[in-house]
Amino acid sequence: MNALLSEARAKVGHRLAMHLRVDLFRLHNSTPMVSFTFDDLPKSAVTSGAAMLEAHGARGTFYVSGSLVGADGPDWVAGDADDVVALHRRGHEIGCHTFSHQRACDLDAAAMQQEITRNRAYLHALDPSIRIDSFAYPFGYGSYARKHQLRKEFQTCRSIVQGVNSGGVDLQFLRAMPLIDREMDRDGIERAFDDAQTNNGWLIFYGHDVTDRPSPYGCSPALLEHALAAASRRKIPVLTMAEAMRCARG
Ligand SMILES: [Zn+2]
Repeated sequence: MNALLSEARAKVGHRLAMHLRVDLFRLHNSTPMVSFTFDDLPKSAVTSGAAMLEAHGARGTFYVSGSLVGADGPDWVAGDADDVVALHRRGHEIGCHTFSHQRACDLDAAAMQQEITRNRAYLHALDPSIRIDSFAYPFGYGSYARKHQLRKEFQTCRSIVQGVNSGGVDLQFLRAMPLIDREMDRDGIERAFDDAQTNNGWLIFYGHDVTDRPSPYGCSPALLEHALAAASRRKIPVLTMAEAMRCARG
């Protein structure tokens, strides 16, 4: 019963987070933009994903939970601390994904603060020059109760609720499109880019591993290559979340 109640509360908090803005931010980017984001630091996102972005002259945003670094899970081999530092030095952005990879709706204000502080300390110990401006909700679960708090700590919070951001947006609940073979195909990628071009939008992709046999949460190199080629064909700049925010501020 308690578990059911807690799930019900989590769902309500998530739905409120989705629909109630802390405030409305108007995007002032002069052209459409696209960001490629990867969660949880699978090794293949570093070895294949980052390398493919770099081959297009682009950089990505990698949302890291300190507790998952070097910790292989059921779905992939994990990247390690050296990978985090290497990504940062190669110009990719390192974002926060809580330290323990916990849903925001399960954390009270003190617990969230601890998660943020611990993750920052972990990343700064690896390299003090890592800036942490961007946050992604673990498991995609937002929390209305935590949005004000996150707004003070980060420029943006990325959800996994589908959509292309344009016009007035909620920076504490940015929408994103899956770069996940099970959920997205080439036509879907083209439609998302069409939307970004029609509405001068900010298209954000999210994914995990990048390998020929991806997990249910990851993508094949072919799907990532299609998205990168689409951006290049349409002359849409590929920006990290922090870079895109600089453009969005106009
Ligand atoms: Zn995650």
